Amino acid sequence: MHCTALPSHVDILIVGGGPVGALIAQRLAASRLSVLLCEARFSVPDDPRALALSHASREALEKNGLWDDAALAPTPIRRVHVSQAGTLGRTELNAADIDLPELGYTVRYAALARHAQRVLLDGNASISLGTPVTRIRQLPRYAAVTLASEKGEHTLTARLVILAEGGKLLGDLHDIHPRVKAYGQSAVLAEVTPATPHDGVAFERFADDGPLALLPDGRNFMLVWTQTPERAAEKLALPEADFLAQINARLGQRAPQLVAVGARASWPLALKTVDSVVGQRVVLVGNAAQTLHPVAGQGLNLGLRDAITLAELLAGSPDAQLGEAAQLARYKRLRSQDANLVTHFTDSLITLFETPHPLLKHARSLGLLAMDSVGPMRRGFARRMVYGAR
Ligand SMILES: Cc1cc2nc3c(=O)[nH]c(=O)nc-3n(C[C@H](O)[C@H](O)[C@H](O)COP(=O)(O)OP(=O)(O)OC[C@H]3O[C@@H](n4cnc5c(N)ncnc54)[C@H](O)[C@@H]3O)c2cc1C
Repeated sequence: MHCTALPSHVDILIVGGGPVGALIAQRLAASRLSVLLCEARFSVPDDPRALALSHASREALEKNGLWDDAALAPTPIRRVHVSQAGTLGRTELNAADIDLPELGYTVRYAALARHAQRVLLDGNASISLGTPVTRIRQLPRYAAVTLASEKGEHTLTARLVILAEGGKLLGDLHDIHPRVKAYGQSAVLAEVTPATPHDGVAFERFADDGPLALLPDGRNFMLVWTQTPERAAEKLALPEADFLAQINARLGQRAPQLVAVGARASWPLALKTVDSVVGQRVVLVGNAAQTLHPVAGQGLNLGLRDAITLAELLAGSPDAQLGEAAQLARYKRLRSQDANLVTHFTDSLITLFETPHPLLKHARSLGLLAMDSVGPMRRGFARRMVYGAR
């Protein structure tokens, strides 16, 4: 429901109404806690991102009323084919290997975020759109938060602030420090049309000049192609035929040939983490806690697991513990293994595959072949991609 009069105090303030903040607000809407979600924008802008969500992410969204086939138009991902250009190394992850109907689904970011906001507005969660948080002051018993609303500046206190805003407010926190690793890379995004149906197969191809991923998206693929910022700018300006020829040359025989390309966009990439995901009266989730390279398609999957773990903990804890250091330390313990493993896995994929040395290339190829021929290893990996580290 839209919050018409901003309160002066709440138990929990959620900052950011992206998919992660929305999932927490929705899960807590039926709890005894007073919760307000503030979202800076009035509406979700168009966004070229197509996201690969795991089967487990779908289940989490579905359980909380945020999955709707008609609104999200999901495209099933049945297999993921991973290969390295110029070598025989390849492996394939398969939904049947881990007894699932699908490994995951591609959905558009804008469709997911818009649907989530609509569900919150129509339901019991309290949400205020067009209300950016501009300042957070952490105090021992609560946080004092300044909001910019249509009616002017407003201050409220909250026993706990959940930052789900992508990390833009980290500079206000006295006990949490960001760490940024610049990859010197950008993602080129484009919708591309295959000559033959994709049959729900996603492709991850490690080419010498950067990895490229093809996610089945409707009848097309969404391309995510990692390049240096200079080369990304060149790719955006290439005539369509040259762009397609370059992609097809990198894919070789591993994927269907691409015959058309839609609008192209580019996105700067970096790894952003923090020295702690909890601080005094504050907890970070989703991209605020870790912003990952999209190469493995894990950022939102990880963020949704943050959201579910935190919301379950808050809903199930005695009132007196809300926002206390012990409760936040427990959340941090619950999330650290999964978050660290996925963050390091994603980062090492970039480091491992960007090294052009021929011996390393051979070793990588052997690694992919080994994974392909050892069933338990492949299944274990697929399970971890779907469910995270548990
Ligand atoms: C090219 C690309 C491809 C990707 N592909 C995948 C993929 O295949 N699979 C996957 O799992 N992940 C993928 N990701 C990652 C995924 O997009 C993010 O992990 C996800 O969007 C994070 O969700 P979030 O809710 O934490 O943050 P966001 O989606 O960034 O939402 C943050 C919200 O906070 C609001 N906000 C910001 N500042 C304030 C403020 N001061 N006050 C109030 N509100 C504020 C914003 O308006 C926004 O609505 C990809 C990312 C990129 C860039």
